[in-house]
Parts: sequence; structure tokens; C-alpha cells
Amino acid sequence: DNTGQRPKRILLKLSGEALMGDFDFGFDADVLQSTAQQIAEQQKQGVQMALVIGGGNIFRGAGLAKSGINRVSGDQMGMLATVMNALAMQDALHKQGVSCRVMTSMNIDGVGEGFSAEQAQRYLDQGEIVIFAAGTGNPCFTTDSAASLRAIEIQADLLLKATKVDGIYDSDPVKNPTAKRYEQISYDDAIEQRLGVMDLTAMVLCNENNMPMRVFNMFESGALASIVNGESVGTLVEV
Ligand code: UDP
Repeated sequence: DNTGQRPKRILLKLSGEALMGDFDFGFDADVLQSTAQQIAEQQKQGVQMALVIGGGNIFRGAGLAKSGINRVSGDQMGMLATVMNALAMQDALHKQGVSCRVMTSMNIDGVGEGFSAEQAQRYLDQGEIVIFAAGTGNPCFTTDSAASLRAIEIQADLLLKATKVDGIYDSDPVKNPTAKRYEQISYDDAIEQRLGVMDLTAMVLCNENNMPMRVFNMFESGALASIVNGESVGTLVEV
């Protein structure tokens, strides 16, 4: 149980949709800036921040497959979408006065450097934010899995999954007004009950590697700061 502990190195997973605001596609500049501001604030206070950003605000392989694009190409397009999001976030973070590196899981010379867990940890130790882009680099995975994998690889203290709801509920809180939020749940229970907060592959990886995860609502003001202070915000998922 790590409740009350202040995480020193965090991997934050943001979905692409989180950057979209009220639009149907792409970015909302205000949302991008306010998200960057919250992340930069933590980094300035000495918390090591690494990010994985999804691509769902631009392309998803599954969506492209519906328009007839083969799954592997569609997934590669989805991974490239995450690179665009990473560049937008890097720019927003620079505007907040913090330095930030983009590391990509596919080689894209001139855009970001290739992923290395060791180098990433060096940058984090030097006080730079690192964004891991292009997912895992493999089709048929999601950026949730990339976030779990990178969190494990860089030895993060905590994986943070930002969602639209403020944690994990025993039923869908949008459909069921009496749904109850878990303050804490084990990976085994979350996996068994198929509580759809994160894909199964990602949860299995975290479970096997003892990586705690907190599910929270990034748009609740001060949520990220409270978590960094060791407060019990959202739902903590542990082995
Ligand atoms: N993707 C992939 N391999 C990965 C990560 C992502 O093929 O390791 C592709 C996949 O098509 C996915 C898209 O990139 O749909 C965007 O990622 P994701 O759906 O996870 O984004 P989010 O829902 O978090 O915005």
C-alpha cells in the first residue's frame, strides 16, 4: 500500500481525446496549455514527470480499419498520431518554461530520438520531462500498454492514468447514479471484473511487474498536485 507516499517519478498516461476539449478532432489549444501547465508545475517542484500520450484525437487503427485500411497500416498511422500529439505537448511544455524530450518507439530522425530506458532516466534525473511517443512501436497494442511498459522500464513509482471520470466504479457512473467508486482495488479484481479503465494487456503487465496505478480525472482542478502530495485521489490499483 503506497497511500500517503509521495511519488518521485511518475509516468502520466493521457489519451489523445483528453487534448481535444470539445472538438471532434485534433487539439484544443487551451486544454493543451492548461494540461501542460499542470505537468510543468509538478516538474518545477522536483517531481520527475514522464508522459505517454495516445492518438485517438487523430487516428486509431480500429477506426481506420472500418474505412478499409488494413490493420497494420492503420495502427502505424495511429502511432504516428501519437507522435504529433507528443510534438504539440512538447511545444506547450516549452512555453511553460520547462525542458522536454520526445523519444519515439519508431525511428523518425529529426523529430525525436529513439527510445532508451537508460537515457530516459538520465534526462529525468536532470530535470527534463520525457514524452514517449509512437506507443510500443508495434501494431495491435495500445498506448495504455505502452504506458505500462515504459513505466516499468523507467522504474516509475506510479503510473497515472488520466480519464474523464474520477476513478474506477463498480458500474458505469454515467449510466448508474448509484455506482460506487473504489478507493483501492487489486489488479486481480479489476482484471476479473473487467473494469474497463485500461486495456487488459496493460493491467496484466502492471500486475506482473508490481507497478501501482492511480486512475483519476485530470480535469478536476488540483488533482495532479494532490496525488503528488500523497493524497488518495481517484482509485489506486495495486497488486
Ligand atoms: N497504436 C499501436 N501500437 C501501440 C500504441 C498505439 O498500434 O503500441 C495505435 C493503435 O492504432 C491505436 C492508436 O495507435 O488505436 C492510438 O493509440 P490509442 O488508441 O491508445 O490512443 P488513446 O485512446 O489513448 O488516445
